[in-house]
Amino acid sequence: MRGTVATPDNSPILPCMVEPVLTFTDRGIYCPAGDFFIDPWRPVPRAVITHGHADHARPGHGTYLATTGALPVIRHRLGEIEAETVQYGETRDIGAARVSLHPAGHLPGSAQIRVEVRGEVWVVSGDYKTTPDGLSEPFEPVRCHTFVTECTFGLPVFTWPEQATVAREINAWWAKNAAEGRTSLLGAYSLGKAQRLLSLLEPQGPILTHGAVEATNAVLRAQGYALPETTQVTPDFAPRKAKGALVLAPPSALGSAWARRFGPASTGFASGWMRLRGIRRRRAMDRGFVMSDHADWPGLHQAIQATGAENIYTTHGYTEIFARWLNSQGYNAQVVSTEFGCEDGTEGEEPS
Ligand SMILES: [Zn+2]
Ligand SMILES: [Zn+2]
Repeated sequence: MRGTVATPDNSPILPCMVEPVLTFTDRGIYCPAGDFFIDPWRPVPRAVITHGHADHARPGHGTYLATTGALPVIRHRLGEIEAETVQYGETRDIGAARVSLHPAGHLPGSAQIRVEVRGEVWVVSGDYKTTPDGLSEPFEPVRCHTFVTECTFGLPVFTWPEQATVAREINAWWAKNAAEGRTSLLGAYSLGKAQRLLSLLEPQGPILTHGAVEATNAVLRAQGYALPETTQVTPDFAPRKAKGALVLAPPSALGSAWARRFGPASTGFASGWMRLRGIRRRRAMDRGFVMSDHADWPGLHQAIQATGAENIYTTHGYTEIFARWLNSQGYNAQVVSTEFGCEDGTEGEEPS
């Protein structure tokens, strides 16, 4: 066995001499039967990757396996890597493990990873969202014995409004700002949230983008994802062109000198964290829109129930509280410590 085992040498459904389908090591989630890691956080020879966010797709691995939809963004972020792709649902035998990737609904190309060894099935959720957003391939529940689930928003307070409702709020905010001569500065992570927002905008003026957002747009457009027309803000950008515009930028850019060129502006941020008043205030945004690329509290329950799994490992978020709650509901749940959680690699940014 590799690395130090962080938790489950006492996995209850297995005879003690048989290795579990997946183990939890200091380099990441490991499959002994297939000798590969899932979303490892230290360099490993063989990695299977759920999606392109920086906490899941890291540099330095020998080979990468991802969905056809996810690889272009991973390549864009990591440069030249040795990689193979699979379609959703396609199976691949790696050693004695049978592996397949299934839609996670988190962002375009994102996947859950199903691993079957000797008839026993484990699924690693990666990050997931159970409600369709019109851009990402919708989440598909996968039956399994053991489910390793993220729980970024694993508290009852986190419930998301309908996407159409939030889209109306954002478009109304933009219209009002445009009418009053203000630029609308909307903060969103450059991979996933930004493109999801773009697909929901009803243009009331030009849509301008920060370079980080535009680079990801270009990758996804080349894959065939339909996004509205955008104009990247370049150093020679003339401020008068910002009249009535909505500017889409990573949250870190909004408080910077970069954002001041647009003149009078209203700032907004779209994130699941906007559900919490305290965080809204700390962010010093004029408007918070509650929109997340992760499952909300009811979504987590539905997803877990739909797997039919008895054993649940919680990662990524309110792991302790969520595991305790699952145990109270009759599941056999425990916490796994991982290094997931910082979506964009942007220091101090919560996953949204
Ligand atoms: Zn993610
Ligand atoms: Zn994540």
